[in-house]
Amino acid sequence: MNTHNSFSLEAIATVATPFKQKFAIPRQPNLANAEGVITFEEGFNDINLLKGIENYSHLWLLFIFHQNIERGWKNTVKAPRLGGNATMGVLASRSTHRPNGIGMSVVKNKGVVSSNGQTQLVVEGVDLVDGTPLVDIKPYIAYADSVPSASDNLDDINPIPNRDVSFADTIQPTLAEIEKKHRGFSALVTAVLSQDPRPAYKQHIENDEKTYRVTLYDIDVGFEIRDAAVKVTELVHLG
Ligand code: SAM
Repeated sequence: MNTHNSFSLEAIATVATPFKQKFAIPRQPNLANAEGVITFEEGFNDINLLKGIENYSHLWLLFIFHQNIERGWKNTVKAPRLGGNATMGVLASRSTHRPNGIGMSVVKNKGVVSSNGQTQLVVEGVDLVDGTPLVDIKPYIAYADSVPSASDNLDDINPIPNRDVSFADTIQPTLAEIEKKHRGFSALVTAVLSQDPRPAYKQHIENDEKTYRVTLYDIDVGFEIRDAAVKVTELVHLG
């Protein structure tokens, strides 16, 4: 449908990321150096669409929260920034459950790769689940997009945790092997887990009984929270 107030969108690309599920993805971009590889759909797979993009260090990705879109939206949402229980208006939040399911993230531009007729754009700092559809890409223009005087009164209420992260001695050889395949893997795991991916209402628990699991790339990562620090206890290569 395409009247003056109803539009349909088409994905121009999808982005491959290390994050195989929503759990443990940072709350916003650039909180971990996670790489995204954007592959253009037929009809948009044309290097001319990206001509001049090398002039910009950062880009806006506009995307669809495709894993939540079928669940619809509500006028108020629980805000992780307020500890998880207090609610805010959906339009006063960066919730993934939005009227049109549109997300926006600023990421680093790592350049265009083109081979065998397929154009790809590499970015860094994504907060997106693997396979997220993009509906637009735009340059980040600092003179207009950066507002140094901007204020955010919620900044201090529930700041992003910064926990120590260590790897059990028993998994050090596996970690070294994984690093050969996924360079920067331990730094990525450290950045992601230091933010304490547990739900906001659990983040105050400093000794958690549970072992949590997250898949990054093709690696199943098991971790625990003990004495307020994160310990990675298992790394399993998924076949
Ligand atoms: N920076 C974007 C924004 O403000 O529009 C996204 C912020 S949103 C709070 C970030 C969270 O979205 C991530 O932690 C992840 O759990 C979730 N997410 C990422 N990609 C998604 C997708 N394709 N579908 C549904 N949820 C997604």
